[in-house]
Amino acid sequence: MRKLLEHQVRRCGLNKLIVLSNRAPFVFKGENMHITKAARAVSGLVSALEPITGACGGTWVGWGGRVAGESRVGGRVAVPLDRPEYTVREMVFSRQEYQRYYHGFANDCLWPLFHCFLEKAVFDHDYWQSYVRVNCKFAEAAAAEADGDALIWVHDYHLTLVPGMLRDMGYRGQIAFFCHIPFPPLEIFSALPWGEDILRGLLGSDLVAFHLNGYVENFLRVVEKQLQAGIDHGRGRIDRGERTVRVRALPIGIDYREFEAAARREEIRRRAAEIRRRVGVDRLVLSVERLDYTKGIIEKLQGIEEFFSSCPQHRNRVAFLQVAVPSRTEVQTYADLRSSAEEMVSRINGLYASNWSTPVKYMFKAFNRDELVAHYCAADVCLVTSLRDGLNLVAKEYVASRVAGDGVLVLSTFAGAAEQLSGCLPVNPYDRVDLAEKINKAVEMAPAEQKLRMATLQQSVRHYDLNWWWQGVLAGLARNTGSPAGAGKGEGPLAAGEFVPKRRPDG
Ligand code: UDP
Repeated sequence: MRKLLEHQVRRCGLNKLIVLSNRAPFVFKGENMHITKAARAVSGLVSALEPITGACGGTWVGWGGRVAGESRVGGRVAVPLDRPEYTVREMVFSRQEYQRYYHGFANDCLWPLFHCFLEKAVFDHDYWQSYVRVNCKFAEAAAAEADGDALIWVHDYHLTLVPGMLRDMGYRGQIAFFCHIPFPPLEIFSALPWGEDILRGLLGSDLVAFHLNGYVENFLRVVEKQLQAGIDHGRGRIDRGERTVRVRALPIGIDYREFEAAARREEIRRRAAEIRRRVGVDRLVLSVERLDYTKGIIEKLQGIEEFFSSCPQHRNRVAFLQVAVPSRTEVQTYADLRSSAEEMVSRINGLYASNWSTPVKYMFKAFNRDELVAHYCAADVCLVTSLRDGLNLVAKEYVASRVAGDGVLVLSTFAGAAEQLSGCLPVNPYDRVDLAEKINKAVEMAPAEQKLRMATLQQSVRHYDLNWWWQGVLAGLARNTGSPAGAGKGEGPLAAGEFVPKRRPDG
């Protein structure tokens, strides 16, 4: 994959890449620039972007987990420490910035709003001021790194103002923005008092990309209504006078071969068999996700209770494993969610446990990659019940890890990945009866139907993989500059979302 990527990067004429995301790919320990430890951060975003940053020998601007008394732009660190491939320009936040910009505006306002949980969004003017200041620091750091000529690739809702700020600073090079979460409809977005500032920030980019066509359509409609901008809906273009902004749907893919290879490793096979032995029942249903209200964990537990109540024949046959990855633990909403989830787990176990065995196993922790793949291999069913989810990588990773071609994916129709993953069992997480029925159907599914569905799923996840995603981004940018990757293909027209497979999940 690495060689292919280096080739594509050269073909595209991309010689300098600056990636910006809130979190850097490493968590640093140490005093000032004396870094004693750099631990790789575990996230889908890091897995997706690190190979391309390494292939370009680029620079990644992000927060390395250190909070200073006095905020400042941190130094440059060559990473990985033992065999450097690229550079991290570390951002250091003050304690107040961490509270107001990160927990406050990004996670207490934009996160719920963009996921359509309007009632959870906090509109606080101090949070907003801090968001503006921190975005400005990111923009200054990026401009200094780019030195006039680079592709600056900005990621996610924490940094929406950066592209516009870079233009205000006079930066004329290429800027791309990728939004990893949904983009809400006009009726929800309009509640944001600073919506126009955010749109102007995003439109500093040459390319704005989302996972799905639906998010692209929401974005174009919002820009049209709030900024009265000239929009070409068919081609996904916004006219900004001196520039044209392209808007694309590019659902992120996973490194399929890496998961497949991991799932074939002997020690992972052994670990998967051990997990099955310990579970000790016929069917294991796995859920693994951050403990976040968007993931529908409470609704899932209600569905599990309904399942055991309506399908008594499965009471000693089926076990559920809920891995709840700690997330935003300092925020009260998340602490409350944890209490509610743990209460429900113990309620279900109180009702349906027998002979020292409990039907719902629960862990409040994160798995490393090997442990995660071992659990994907051990589980007969993967249950994803997001109430709203930009895409959902866990669903794709489960599919890639099922090297024997069996297993069932039960997937919420509110997860973006459902648009790509026909072959799953689609479920409405708001309906506990539907949840119970789909769980029942999944644990009873005959091997032949499992294989048929899994083959369809694997075809899609393998084709629309991480490499396909990079190609889409590079092609989208190349068409802006007329650089070699765009040459020969013509200038367009590109339909908004041309990269999105148009399949719907079947039931
Ligand atoms: N993940 C992990 N350990 C865990 C659980 C999840 O490394 O215990 C990773 C998983 O491999 C996936 C990412 O975290 O790449 C979660 O991405 P997803 O899109 O499913 O959800 P998000 O957390 O981004 O909302």
